[in-house]
Amino acid sequence: MRTALVTGGGRGIGAAISKRLAKDGYRILLTYCNSSKPAEMVVDEIRNSGIDAVAVNCDVTDAREVALLATHPWVSTGIEVLVINHGRYDRIDAKELDIDHLRRTMSTNFEGAFLVWEAIKTNLVSNARICVIGSQLGTRGSAHGADYSASKAALATWARSLAQSLAPEGKRVNIVAPGFVDTDILAGDSEEKRSSREAEVPLKRIGTPEDIAGTVSFLVGEESDYITGAVIHVNGGLYLP
Ligand code: NDP
Repeated sequence: MRTALVTGGGRGIGAAISKRLAKDGYRILLTYCNSSKPAEMVVDEIRNSGIDAVAVNCDVTDAREVALLATHPWVSTGIEVLVINHGRYDRIDAKELDIDHLRRTMSTNFEGAFLVWEAIKTNLVSNARICVIGSQLGTRGSAHGADYSASKAALATWARSLAQSLAPEGKRVNIVAPGFVDTDILAGDSEEKRSSREAEVPLKRIGTPEDIAGTVSFLVGEESDYITGAVIHVNGGLYLP
């Protein structure tokens, strides 16, 4: 059975990706950090559809936990698809950002991605597909997320570098850069803020986790066989230079 590993696959965008890839026929190895309940619910839903799934607790900032993840039997039998989806966004004004917070964000969003890749790279099948969830803010920056924007920019350029290095082996790496997506990340928005976001988006709506999952499904599927090192913006038409 083909295996897809989805980090942060138990809620938000990650949960939609886990469910979509299960529909595509992968058994799902998903990780969570703090939210075991939603992760178990996603696993149950996938299993009820007849596809195998398992949730593993793994804080990606902890190298020992990531090393332990790599010993899971589904990793040793070969990973076909790796989705690096986990992320944190704490909305701190760029002027107020301190070094501790910057390190925390980088260690989750960027170094955590690297640790996962490093731990499982020898278990990737020969034509493995890797999909990394970046952000529009990795391109355009944000007054309320300098740390987050920098971490996502680093993540995207790292992933593009990996794409170039892995291409001769037949492995593909792509980046999905979401705009505004309806998950807990936007849950703190006032009604007014939400309306202003909707007005800003040319397609006049906030994205859904399923919008992102559909793009991931395409990028790890056969129909995108000639696409690697790409950053696909899924943002309802927001202009990015
Ligand atoms: P959520 O806050 O809903 O989910 C974040 C996920 O990351 C959770 O599964 C969480 O696991 C996991 N996570 C956080 N910290 C760690 C850690 N240290 N180790 C392991 N896992 C961790 O956010 P979204 O679903 O919205 O975000 C998913 C991805 O999409 C993120 O990379 C985010 O940056 C990106 N994105 C989201 C946008 C949006 O508007 N929603 C826009 C652009 C990009 P747990 O709950 O178990 O702690």
